[in-house]
Amino acid sequence: MRNRRAALSALAATASLALTLSACGQSSDGGSEEKAGSAKGGTVGVAMPTKSSERWISDGNNVVKELQAKGYKTKLVYGEDDPDQQVSQIENLITQGVKALIVAAIDNKSLTNVLQQAHDAKIPVIAYDRLILDSKNVDYYASFDNTKVGELQASYIVDKLGLKDGKGPFNLELFAGSNDDNNTKYFFGGAMSVLKPYIDQKKLVIRSGQTALNQVTTLRWDGATAQKRMDDVLTKSYKSEKVDAVLSPYDGISIGILSALKSDNYGSSSKPLPVVTGQDAELASVKSIVAGRQTQTVYKDLRKLAKVASGMVDDSLNDKKPEVNDTKTYDNGAKVVPAYLLKPVSVDKSNYKQILVDGGFYTEGDLK
Ligand code: BGC
Repeated sequence: MRNRRAALSALAATASLALTLSACGQSSDGGSEEKAGSAKGGTVGVAMPTKSSERWISDGNNVVKELQAKGYKTKLVYGEDDPDQQVSQIENLITQGVKALIVAAIDNKSLTNVLQQAHDAKIPVIAYDRLILDSKNVDYYASFDNTKVGELQASYIVDKLGLKDGKGPFNLELFAGSNDDNNTKYFFGGAMSVLKPYIDQKKLVIRSGQTALNQVTTLRWDGATAQKRMDDVLTKSYKSEKVDAVLSPYDGISIGILSALKSDNYGSSSKPLPVVTGQDAELASVKSIVAGRQTQTVYKDLRKLAKVASGMVDDSLNDKKPEVNDTKTYDNGAKVVPAYLLKPVSVDKSNYKQILVDGGFYTEGDLK
C-alpha cells in the first residue's frame, strides 16, 4: 500500500519538484542545504534536530551520503532545537514535493499534524533515532537499542564502583535527557533497572533525593542546564560528603556536569572526580575520557544508522519491505512502529582505541 502510494506521489511530486526547487532555491525553507545527486529517485527530505551537537551533524551528512549513493537528491534541514521551526521545515519539504521523509524529532509530540500532511501527500516517513509519538503516519523507526544504552551506562557505574564485590555505600546522582524525547525514558528505564537494587539496598545513596525521572530531566539535552542543576545539587546536598558517580545520558550533559564538579574542586587528589557516564562518543568527550576526566561514553555507530534509515526509504519507494528486527517495543501511542535497532557499545579509556580508532570513527589525530 505504502509503496503504491509512494509511487503515485512520485508522479505528482516530480512535476511540482521541478517548479518548487528551482523557484525556491536553497533558502526557501530557512537554511536547507540541497545536495545534488543522480535524479533516480527524486528528492528525500531529511529533518535533523540541531547543529549544536556534533552527532546530528554527522547524522545529516551520513544520511545525505547514503541517499545520494542510492541515486536520490536530498534536502537537509536543521530545526535548531525549535519544535515550531521543525514543523514548518517539514511542511516546506512536503510542499517542495519530497518523495520520502527522514525525521529526527525535536519534540516527539509536535509532529502529528505535519505527518498527516505527509500521509495525505503519500510520503513515507522514517523516524530517525527518536520515535515520533501520537501519529499512525510513522512508517518505520531506525534507532539503537535505547534500553541497552541506559543499561550500559549503569552497569559501568556498578562495575567501576565494585558494587558486585560488596563495596559501598556510594553517593550517586542521576541525570536524564529531554522530557520531549522519547528515548529519555528508555535510557533512564534501562539504567534504573540496573541501579535500583543497589539503591534499595542503600549501597547507592542519592543525597539530593532526586530519583524520579521528572526531577532529573534536562530540557533539550542542554549542557548548561545540567551544569546548573549539578551546581545546585553539590551546594545543597554535598557539604562534607562527596559524590562518587553521576549517571549522565549524553556527552554534552556530561561536559556540563564536569564543569560544575571542577568549580567545586573535584579533580584534585583529595577530591577525585566521580565516575561520569555519557553517550555518543562526541569528540570533546572522547578527548576528556583519554585525559581522565569523563569516565565512559556509549558509542553508537551513526554510519550504520544512516545506512538503515536510507535503506528503509529506498525499500519503501521501491515496493520492498524494509528489514526490521523489533515489532514490539516502540508503541508511539497510535501504533507499534516496526523498528530496526542497532547495538550500542560502552567505551572508556581501556577500549576507545579498539572501538573508535580501529573502527574508523576517529583517527588518532582527531583525538590529539
Ligand atoms: C539520541 C542520543 C543523543 C540525544 C541528544 C537522543 O535522542 O538518541 O544519541 O545523545 O538525543 O542529542
